Amino acid sequence: MGEECCGPGESPPIDIEEVHDLLNYIAGEFHPPSSERWIDDFSPATGIRIARIPCSDQQDVDAAVSAARAALPEWSALTHAQRADWLDKIADALEERSEEVAQLESLDTGKPITLARTVDAARSVDNFRFFAEYVREFVPETFEMQGATNHVVYKPVGVAGLITPWNLPLYLLSWKVAPALVMGNTVVAKPSELTPMTACLLAEIIDDVGLPAGVFNMVHGRGENVGSRLTSHSDVDLISFTGGTETGAKVATSSSSTFKKLSLELGGKNATIVCADADFDKTIPGVVRAGFLNQGQICLCGSRILIEESIYDEFVGRLIDETNSMKIGDPSDPETDLGALVSAEHLAKVSGYISLAEEDGGTVLTGGSQPEGIPEQFASGNWLAPTIIDGLSPNSRCAKEEIFGPVVTLHPFSSEKEALDIANSTDYGLAGSVWTSDLDKGRRIAEGIETGMVWVNTWLHRDLRVPFGGIKHSGVGREGGRWSLSFYSHAVNICIKHD
Ligand code: NAD
Repeated sequence: MGEECCGPGESPPIDIEEVHDLLNYIAGEFHPPSSERWIDDFSPATGIRIARIPCSDQQDVDAAVSAARAALPEWSALTHAQRADWLDKIADALEERSEEVAQLESLDTGKPITLARTVDAARSVDNFRFFAEYVREFVPETFEMQGATNHVVYKPVGVAGLITPWNLPLYLLSWKVAPALVMGNTVVAKPSELTPMTACLLAEIIDDVGLPAGVFNMVHGRGENVGSRLTSHSDVDLISFTGGTETGAKVATSSSSTFKKLSLELGGKNATIVCADADFDKTIPGVVRAGFLNQGQICLCGSRILIEESIYDEFVGRLIDETNSMKIGDPSDPETDLGALVSAEHLAKVSGYISLAEEDGGTVLTGGSQPEGIPEQFASGNWLAPTIIDGLSPNSRCAKEEIFGPVVTLHPFSSEKEALDIANSTDYGLAGSVWTSDLDKGRRIAEGIETGMVWVNTWLHRDLRVPFGGIKHSGVGREGGRWSLSFYSHAVNICIKHD
């Protein structure tokens, strides 16, 4: 099962009354697709169709870009503080509906409701509040020189195309929308076709608070239609893309001939380095969380666990126990730790990597198949028990390619150098973590890992002011704090000669 582009009358046999039709939001109005074609949206936990979204095409994208362009002069003329007030209004309205955000996110992605409440819903509100506050405190630089003063002025870039993935739908969309708007750009957003629900809720909220028509627009549909039209559109000035590395390459190619400002936040294959002196009681829950949060479907997940040889057996034993203690099942149960994978296609891809690991001589220590005891109502969902694989070469495909599911591989190391050689042996360079009671060593190893972010004795501990982004095939550019303000603007120098 997966999403299908259906013409009228081609839908699967489910009562249409139960299914919501979600709409595009263009120039302050909700619109069905001009093509009259739809994409089905399925619940990952049950396999049941829960919504239909527009299967939009070039006509819808062009209308949204025109609306964004028309709204630009008035929106960009506001001050940072005036736009920050709009962000606060959106944050307030979003906060009032945060339980709805959490419920929809859990339904649409298959993630546990507790995670959706504490991470997705909470962070989406925080993103708007953070950038509102941050821009109010933002003081553009001045540089004095002999006989003149240089003023740096941050001007809007123009129409911003924002393209997002399915794993943290509203969390990542709001991470782009908030800084794009506050710096004076107008927006055309293209959420993932797999998880459109909370993006629609955001459009509703933006409409309710009365943001001027055309400042924020949203077009649903497939990447190859909507996404690629946005990235190649001559009237789109900036693309912020978060998604897979392969898609990122297409986005880079497509947007290059029109010289768009471009940010690419792409895939990862992150190492978790566990030193012999690590505090097991804190490290084991931390490593399990890093490996499996959101069913391992976070670009920052630590899916390669490198363990110092002298503690290998003991650590692995306790890692398996901790992993097996997680509760997997009904995403709406507040006690659930792990939910379903996003789609049947994705489950097949992740399961394919487990088969490949076995062919390559790996041993599945736990997991590897559908978990036991999944209730009948979830029989058609996309379930996979958290999986730990031992015995693979660090150069095997499962150890080097992004699996993006609840699958980790284990690798022993005998020296810092060997740990770093393994950690740095992938094409990716997004994140990593080091676990040790010697903080100098932790810092030293962290500096040796070729990635954009490294945590020591923690993981996904985020301060929104810090730079976020990857190197190598994990992306180009940085977002977060002043890096976002700078990406979503053109820094212009005005040099004034003194009398
Ligand atoms: P994806 O690349 O398949 O899709 C991402 C978005 O791009 C979707 O909205 C999709 O419709 C759109 N798209 C697809 N083809 C396109 C094209 N040709 N032109 C323009 N847009 C197109 O990624 P996904 O499967 O949705 O997400 C998983 C990937 O995202 C993983 O690789 C993960 O590591 C990565 N990710 C990275 C970060 C980060 O911050 N670095 C965060 C979350 C997810």
